[in-house]
Amino acid sequence: MSDCIFCKIIAGEIPSKKVYEDDRVIAIHDINPAAPVHILVMPKEHIASMEDVLDEHLPLLGHIHGVIRNVARELKLDKGYRIVNNCGEQGGQEVPHIHFHLLGGRSLTWPPG
Ligand code: AMP
Ligand code: ZN
Repeated sequence: MSDCIFCKIIAGEIPSKKVYEDDRVIAIHDINPAAPVHILVMPKEHIASMEDVLDEHLPLLGHIHGVIRNVARELKLDKGYRIVNNCGEQGGQEVPHIHFHLLGGRSLTWPPG
């Protein structure tokens, strides 16, 4: 999608700090980290949000979660971590290209605001 900031990152048109990439998925450092470790894991395919996920995308979502687990292991988040998906306006989603936040490196509070 031409006006999507994450599609531009995936296309290499906007720089990012990549921690993982394969043919379907990319993982990058969040530009404004909310925790010592804050990674965004997203599909290369432009899917706007969780609400736009089709049944045919479900294997891709499973793959993304396997990537999150592997990145968490590589970054030695052995004390635990949190996976967050913000969906839509009330979910606090700012970038309309589905992504999963991997947060760790400190004790995280619950519930979120
Ligand atoms: P969300 O509110 O779930 O849509 O989260 C969007 C996230 O994208 C925020 O945590 C932003 O800090 C992050 N973000 C926005 N622009 C960039 C960028 N160019 N590179 C890396 N992360 C970004
Ligand atoms: Zn996109």
